[in-house]
Amino acid sequence: MPQTLEFIFKIRQDFPILRAKIQDKDLVYFDNAATTQKPQVLIDSLSEYYSKYNANTHSQHFLASNLTLEYENVRSGIALFLGAKLADEIVFTKGATESLNLLAYCLETEINPEDEILITQAEHHANILPWQRLVQEKQAKLVVAPMLSSGKIDLTTFQKLLNPKTKIVAFTHVSNVLGVVNEVTELTKLAHKNGSLVVIDGTQAVGHFKVDVTQINCDFYVFSSHKVFGPMGVGVLYGKQKLLNGFQPYQVGGEMVKTVSFETTTFQESPQKFEAGTQNFADIIAFGKTLQYLQNLRQGLDLESYEQDLLKYTTSQLLQIPGLIIHGTANQKIPLISFTIESVDSLDLATFLDEQGIAIRVGSHCAQPLIKSLGLTSTARISLAFYNTFEEVDFMIEQIQRALKILR
Ligand code: PMP
Repeated sequence: MPQTLEFIFKIRQDFPILRAKIQDKDLVYFDNAATTQKPQVLIDSLSEYYSKYNANTHSQHFLASNLTLEYENVRSGIALFLGAKLADEIVFTKGATESLNLLAYCLETEINPEDEILITQAEHHANILPWQRLVQEKQAKLVVAPMLSSGKIDLTTFQKLLNPKTKIVAFTHVSNVLGVVNEVTELTKLAHKNGSLVVIDGTQAVGHFKVDVTQINCDFYVFSSHKVFGPMGVGVLYGKQKLLNGFQPYQVGGEMVKTVSFETTTFQESPQKFEAGTQNFADIIAFGKTLQYLQNLRQGLDLESYEQDLLKYTTSQLLQIPGLIIHGTANQKIPLISFTIESVDSLDLATFLDEQGIAIRVGSHCAQPLIKSLGLTSTARISLAFYNTFEEVDFMIEQIQRALKILR
């Protein structure tokens, strides 16, 4: 077994839940694709916010102006994190799902009857349903680019499916079922050459490697804070400024207006015009603190190559189990493995592992079309983060071996 690096044990100290006993067991948390665990800086930030800083923006007192400043600082921090050129290209939402719904709503004007929206076989429901609804409303067509057997989006077929009617292309950076990383820069280039707008679902990417939206050159990029060690209920929509400014607001109400009368209303510019009502300031500020923490870790340490070592080791250990099949075999993957074992019910396996304190996920992972294309109804999914260790992987493998003696 390779050594877990010393700094990983130190990092683990920053995540209190990793020290907690869950049903009397040491927690082995391998469900990071569902949500990641939270560092102490986030927990402290929330408590500090409500004990020292709570206010609402736009009032004329110290706490309110301080909050506005902090809020806008987080926006700038996210722009840096994503490689966006401008802070104003970052819109706060409540999650990736809301960001995608916002986009489908705002892009309605781009779609005419008979037009096409191209998505892929690899999508989470959040990147299918908003587009499905849009094409149904507009009598347009949803076209689906297939995956290769490795789990990657098939570039050749993707290119063939592009045509003058393809107005929008939406695809995932990383599959939440297979962990496979797609060639997003190449896909974006092909779509732009065709004149299509590009939406990327980066929800499973940002927690594992540096993303640069300027280098990818996509038009829109979305993710949820809770998958990148941040709080629940905060999401991000990156959009090129010119495009965001051209949209009508998604929701209307307080804060996002310039003037209101009963007859007519004028709106603020983007991003404020997409942020109607009181925002989740406490969590957004905690997210800013979390991102600073993550950036600091990434500056000093090569977390990505540690995760890749973990992935290789876990894959090789799993493949020694007779009858175990890993789905998604492409070379470029985040440390996420979906598998099935011949004549073993994945749910029984997950229940057995749960009794030993090991948290994994079983099901169709909100990606039923992908699972169906594999000829399956569910998989067992292990999704790791940089705070996981080789010892935890060994413990899981031991427990799977024990489970198989009972379940087979
Ligand atoms: N896209 C992908 C690839 C995901 O994995 C998820 C969450 N499982 C989502 C979108 C939706 O994220 P949320 O539920 O946080 O809005």
